[in-house]
Amino acid sequence: MRPLTLMGMVTLVVRRAGIFCKQMSGIDEREYMELITRQQHIDDIPNRWHVQYGHTMDSCHGYRYADKYALLKAEVPLTKKKADEIIGNDSWSTLECSGCDAEDPDAIVIVAEVDGYPVYLCRECLVEAMGLIDKKEGSNEG
Ligand SMILES: [Zn+2]
Repeated sequence: MRPLTLMGMVTLVVRRAGIFCKQMSGIDEREYMELITRQQHIDDIPNRWHVQYGHTMDSCHGYRYADKYALLKAEVPLTKKKADEIIGNDSWSTLECSGCDAEDPDAIVIVAEVDGYPVYLCRECLVEAMGLIDKKEGSNEG
């Protein structure tokens, strides 16, 4: 049997992740295998900030969140440097891989959701996962 192409491997992983996740959480399959680049992650900061703090912005102690939201929204395009400066740390602008300690990879892919939290993998972890399938298929050929 001819080894699978990269796209073939990705399709396999997508199908497996989709089936597993649908069984675990009942969440729509289309939410999986979503690519998130670093810039998309940064562009989405105002939205995520609003989801996290929107309910407190009208309260008397919520003014700081509302001020930061306005500053974040005003920056178009929002840069990592500016977002970190407004928020005061880099936790909102940094991508993390659920599978390894990769520091702020260029992009990640959502492969699952566990207890309401997305599981992200970086390119190196996806390649490693495909390598496992390659190895198995190689052993089947005997
Ligand atoms: Zn990784």
